[in-house]
Amino acid sequence: MTAAKLIRAIFFIEILKGLALTFKTMFTPAVTRRYPKVKRPVQPGFRGLHALAKDENGKMKCVGCGLCGAYCPSKCIYIYTSDGKDHKKVVDRYEIEVLRCIYCGFCVEACPFGAITLSEHYEYSDYSREPFYMTKDKLLSNWDKHFAGEKGKRYFRDFWRPKSEDFIGYEGQAMFKGIKNEK
Ligand code: SF4
Ligand code: SF4
Repeated sequence: MTAAKLIRAIFFIEILKGLALTFKTMFTPAVTRRYPKVKRPVQPGFRGLHALAKDENGKMKCVGCGLCGAYCPSKCIYIYTSDGKDHKKVVDRYEIEVLRCIYCGFCVEACPFGAITLSEHYEYSDYSREPFYMTKDKLLSNWDKHFAGEKGKRYFRDFWRPKSEDFIGYEGQAMFKGIKNEK
């Protein structure tokens, strides 16, 4: 142990610093919020409950490529597909075991179609596990509930970066408008 550390230990410097901080903040107004009466506004890009995005015609955007599931560190995304007309992939089931999700957002980043999203909705506690098993229908209805109309458009406009139309070229790495690449 160095002399400085020894002095700090003998004179309880860290404890005194902690007490000083406590004393300093003792008379400032409390910041406790009376949830659920008072709620903090959700910050942009908040990662809440999942939703499967629909296009402007109300059709599910997901094509069942499986990239989201491959990237998911919790392995909580299950996708079942089959061969449809003209060998077009049909997404029969798309399920997320929300209780295992760590809300890392990798699925959102991995999806090349902007088909899986994380909404601003975080108040979905329940008494059993079943409601947390999100089926395709539930995920699609989450889109209607939490991203309907302008909100969905805003989500992609503000948080979906980089966009394909922002791609301006390749110089050793992909270049995007408004995004400064590391040298
Ligand atoms: S947010 Fe992360 S853990 Fe949750 S489903 Fe997506 S990739 Fe998996
Ligand atoms: S959500 Fe996106 S990444 Fe996942 S299967 Fe559908 S299209 Fe592929």
